[in-house]
Amino acid sequence: MPVARTALVTGAASGIGKATAQALAESGVRVILSDVSEGGREAAEHVGGSFLQADLASMDEAAALSQRALDLCGRVDILVNNAGFQQMAPVEEYDDRAWARFLQVMLVAPFQLIKRLLPGMKEQGWGRIINISSIHGLIASPYKSAYVSAKHGLIGLTKTVALEAGGRGVTVNAICPGYVRTPLVEAQVASQAAAHGIGEDEVIEKIMLDPAAIRRLIEPEEVARLALFLASDDARSVTGSAYSIDAGWTAR
Ligand code: NAD
Repeated sequence: MPVARTALVTGAASGIGKATAQALAESGVRVILSDVSEGGREAAEHVGGSFLQADLASMDEAAALSQRALDLCGRVDILVNNAGFQQMAPVEEYDDRAWARFLQVMLVAPFQLIKRLLPGMKEQGWGRIINISSIHGLIASPYKSAYVSAKHGLIGLTKTVALEAGGRGVTVNAICPGYVRTPLVEAQVASQAAAHGIGEDEVIEKIMLDPAAIRRLIEPEEVARLALFLASDDARSVTGSAYSIDAGWTAR
């Protein structure tokens, strides 16, 4: 009987990470959910997976997470680097440490996990690395210098590791979602509604989704299904790519 594949999903207490962990679990993959939030424990119980609490803003905790996952399950075949957050400020006003924190959680921690989990994937001749970037990995928006820099960097990391891992059965891809209905976006909608003195529906329709061809928020499960495809055997020729799922946001 073949050994069940194991996935490690970061930022899995909520939103896209939780939906991806659930989709992987439903497809028969053993899942390890990791998050800074203890809410990940409940999410893990919900999907029948395990939980590892880790704060990826700490370089030491990020470095230790891969070994903790290997100690727990013996292998990690699929790595989903998803943990992230958002905070907006003009570049002149951005706090230095807050800016560096973005880079640590959304670029350095993914590198630390890839570095430590790629050797096992190469050795077994199969692996999938999926990095959740963003439309902001492809284009910029004002006041998001830290987020945009981290997400652009994550696509660069994706392409580089794809080249290094090619030929060993390991694929490395990024997913670039537009606005997805998660707590991260709900918080932005609320703050923009307050800032502009307009309703939340108007923020979504007229500000956030103005450039999109399809004016609706994407559901986390839609992103999860794309991740599921990239994690499958069918996607063995897809590597080094940055897949947009953005309702046409970057088409113009
Ligand atoms: P979310 O807030 O629902 O989930 C993010 C998770 O990351 C949370 O559970 C949070 O606790 C965790 N996290 C944050 N900081 C962490 C840290 N230091 N260590 C460990 N975990 C940490 O948000 P989401 O929308 O599901 O976002 C998931 C990913 O998708 C992020 O990388 C985000 O940038 C990206 N993304 C989201 C959207 C969107 O519209 N929601 C669009 C494009 C990209």
